[in-house]
Amino acid sequence: MPTELRDSLDRPIEYLRISVTDRCNLRCRYCMPPDGVPRRSHDDILRYEEIVRAVRAIVPLGLTRVRLTGGEPLVRPGLPTLVRMLGAVKGLRDIALTTNGQLLAERARELRDAGLRRINISLDTLQPERYREITLGGEIDRVFAGIAAAREAGLSPIKINAVLIRGMNDDEVVDFAQLTLGEPYDVRFIEFMPMGDVGLWSPEAVVPEEETRAAVEALGPLEPAPTPATSRGGEAWRLPGAKGTIAFISPVSRPFCSSCNRLRLTADGKLRPCLLADHSVDLRAVLRSGACDSYIRAAFAEAACAKPNGHHLSEGVTCLTTPMAAIGG
Ligand code: SAM
Repeated sequence: MPTELRDSLDRPIEYLRISVTDRCNLRCRYCMPPDGVPRRSHDDILRYEEIVRAVRAIVPLGLTRVRLTGGEPLVRPGLPTLVRMLGAVKGLRDIALTTNGQLLAERARELRDAGLRRINISLDTLQPERYREITLGGEIDRVFAGIAAAREAGLSPIKINAVLIRGMNDDEVVDFAQLTLGEPYDVRFIEFMPMGDVGLWSPEAVVPEEETRAAVEALGPLEPAPTPATSRGGEAWRLPGAKGTIAFISPVSRPFCSSCNRLRLTADGKLRPCLLADHSVDLRAVLRSGACDSYIRAAFAEAACAKPNGHHLSEGVTCLTTPMAAIGG
């Protein structure tokens, strides 16, 4: 009889972030090298059936939630099919998606119909020209159209993730916060982490939570808002009378490792115990060896056991070897 999946610190593993592709249609300057990451062959990437088989094997051990990410998940053909297949896994309670929104306007309805309920959209600026610069050519109007389509399709909540980088977009904190006044969007300010050697990171580039919060509070006092059970690492806050909420995700200045309940699965089938540690277990080899479910569970148990107590970003330790896009943010 399977037992619960727990790590060596007894943290339960309930959440799997699944990267469905390492390709992306943007080249955000702080995330992707300008030439992208080395292209993997089609065969290297897990098939949807393989992803679903792994999830099905682990749900009896306590996995309840998955998030699809990338690269850009919407560039992989047939993503709604994967959502539908995951939706059929009994016991899996929540399927979420993180996207840059470029292709969302066309897909929001289909994704909702397939069983997606909530969505995170990455948007680091509200200024069209700046968006083009940060993303190396992205169209901000496509993101706005994607957000509108997500809303119309009934996806909720709609979270907007903004990574703040000093000198790049830290002058827009108030503009983002103001968005929540009139619209029911949940804006999340994310601290910049040292990921991948893309040449932009320095300790000074991080905008600490304290500073962001002070800028937001110029608009009024933040009141605690109900924080969804699915949210880790950042309680929700609300400006007086606002329709949406604000959260601060602060892996550098306020790490939330002690409550980390997740593993990550890369597009090529590596199970990573921690975003910021270059260690992985080769799940693809297990899946393709014809092994039965107990071997899949053993691979997950091995990854869970290898989960470090926490990262050490605040002490200046960095993780510059692997870009975020190659892991799945
Ligand atoms: N393409 C999708 C998107 O843009 O949402 C999913 C993948 S992307 C790697 C996921 C998230 O990681 C994005 O919100 C991005 O801003 C964030 N991200 C990338 N590099 C980061 C870094 N060094 N520090 C903090 N967040 C980062």
